[in-house]
Formats: sequence, structure tokens, C-alpha cells
Amino acid sequence: MQEMIPLKGAAVSAKLKQEVQDGLTRLHGGHTPKLAIVRVGEKPDDMAYERGAIKKMQNFGLDAVTYSFPEMISDEDFKQEFRRINENPEITGILLLLPLPGQICQKEIERMIDPAKDMDGISPMNQAKVFAGDPFGYAPCTAEAVIEVLKGYEIPIEGKRVTIVGRSMVVGKPLSMLLLKENATVTICHTRTRDLPSECRHAEILVAAAGRAKMLGAEAVGKGAVVIDVGINVDADGKLCGDVDYEAIKDAAAMATPVPGGVGAVTTAVLAKHLVRAALEKESSERG
Ligand code: NAP
Repeated sequence: MQEMIPLKGAAVSAKLKQEVQDGLTRLHGGHTPKLAIVRVGEKPDDMAYERGAIKKMQNFGLDAVTYSFPEMISDEDFKQEFRRINENPEITGILLLLPLPGQICQKEIERMIDPAKDMDGISPMNQAKVFAGDPFGYAPCTAEAVIEVLKGYEIPIEGKRVTIVGRSMVVGKPLSMLLLKENATVTICHTRTRDLPSECRHAEILVAAAGRAKMLGAEAVGKGAVVIDVGINVDADGKLCGDVDYEAIKDAAAMATPVPGGVGAVTTAVLAKHLVRAALEKESSERG
């Protein structure tokens, strides 16, 4: 029996680092692109993501600065602060950690963010571009990271049956559009899906993005399938794990991303790629 091949994020991230460095050499101004990470409150998940993003930007030769605000900041005050960051010419791109606390109208902030600085594809403009298959939009980094993993490992997408578990605006929905653009045949599953294991087993590529620790086991994986696990959860023993039970699927799957060490590392590399792209596009629009 063939052993399941781990699809490690580090290998894909290294390729993206090369792309970022090539991009940096094409920047004429000699300045370093700068990411603004905007955080409201101190949620441990946000802080962990922020640390990872800062580390990745530094490692890729990019700048990152955090703007943090108290959890109880008013809608009006936050909007004012956000407007300042949005309009700051020193800032190349923005990563806004979501969701925002209830008193802030998140939809309004999503509409406000400059689409050219919207590194995680939250603005309606970028969402529409992703939906239309327009390559000039910014897709959410995690959704794009799934495509990067598949392409990085030269896994064919065209014509494949792909099942995605999860239909959020950050992962499931935009990913379905990116996969359609690659000519996959896409099925999207959610909490109302009847017979989830059967829908999953049918897939040649299975993407898990439900946020439920180890919810998919051997019963959900067809023989020889490629499994991409986007989930980041904590299991009953307090250990980080994905939505897929990695040990349980070893006899069925041909390849799978581990958690940690899979999609997460690629997500921040895609963020870096977006930042350099934003800097290059800004420079070229300024030069006319
Ligand atoms: P979310 O907004 O909570 O969405 C979860 C989706 O999964 C929903 O569409 C939900 O269906 C579906 N779902 C939940 N339980 C299910 C079940 N038992 N059966 C079928 N479908 C189910 O989560 P998200 O923001 O998309 O994140 C998903 C996971 O990815 C989380 O673990 C998150 O931590 C992780 N994540 C990872 C990265 C990364 O860089 N690797 C980045 C972002 C998120 P309904 O729509 O019917 O409720």
C-alpha cells in the first residue's frame, strides 16, 4: 500500500517567497511594502495570527505594523481611525482581523476599505472580481492558499471533482470560485448537507473548512483522494488539529495537508504575495 504523502506548507511558502523576492526586485522606488494589521480587542486567535503574519513579512523582507484598538472602541471612533490608516500613503496593504466586535458595523468597514489595499479580499469590489474570475481582484488569502498548495504540488485541478466542506465568505465561497476558474467541478457542503460522508467520499480533492476538530475521518475520504485541511481547531487534549482526522485517513488518502504545518503557513505567504503585488500596482499607476 502506498503511504499518504504529507503536503507541507513550508515547501509552498518557500516557492512564494521566491515570487515575492522577484517582485521586490521589480519595485523601482526602493521602498519596502508595508502591511498594516488592524486589530480590535485581544482575542488569542487574532494575536496568534498577527504574530505569524508579522514573522512571515519579516522573513520575506517586508514591513508590518500593528494598529490595535480597545475592544470597546465606538463605531464612530473606529471608523475615523480606520479611515486614517486607509488613506495613509505609507501603508501598502491592510489586513483587518475579523470579526469586529458587535458595536462596529463591519459591513461599512468592508465597503470603506480601499480595494487596492484590501489584502484579504473583504471589500465588495474584490469579492465581485473573484466571483467574476477577474485576476485583478484580491481573493481571501486562505482560499487562495488552497490553490497555491494544489499548484505548488502540481496536483491537477482541471476536470476534478472537488468537494468543499464549508461555505463561509473567507474560505468556502471564494474558494469555490477560484476552483471553478481552474475548471474543477465543485460541490459545496454545509450543515444542511444530507449525507456529508457520501458527498466527501465522491471527491477527488476534498477541502475541509468547517472549523470542527477531526470531524472528517476515513468514511469521508475516497481511495486516492487529495485532502486539503483548512481547519484550525483545538482537540480534546488541547492540541492544535484540523477538521480531518489525519491518522484515520492514512489508508484512504493519497496526499493530505497536516495541521499545523499545512495551509496556515501558505496563507501568510499569500498575504506577502498580495502585498508586493499591491506595491507594484501602486507604483505602475503612479507612473501612469
Ligand atoms: P465559519 O465561518 O464558522 O464557517 C464554517 C462553515 O462550515 C459553515 O459554512 C458551516 O455551515 C460549515 N460547517 C460547520 N460545521 C459543519 C458540519 N458539521 N457539517 C457540515 N458543514 C459544517 O468558519 P471559517 O471562518 O470558514 O473557518 C473554517 C475553519 O478554517 C476554521 O477552523 C478556521 O479556524 C480555519 N481557518 C484557517 C485559516 C488558515 O489560514 N488555515 C484561515 C481562516 C480560517 P453553515 O454555513 O451551514 O453554518
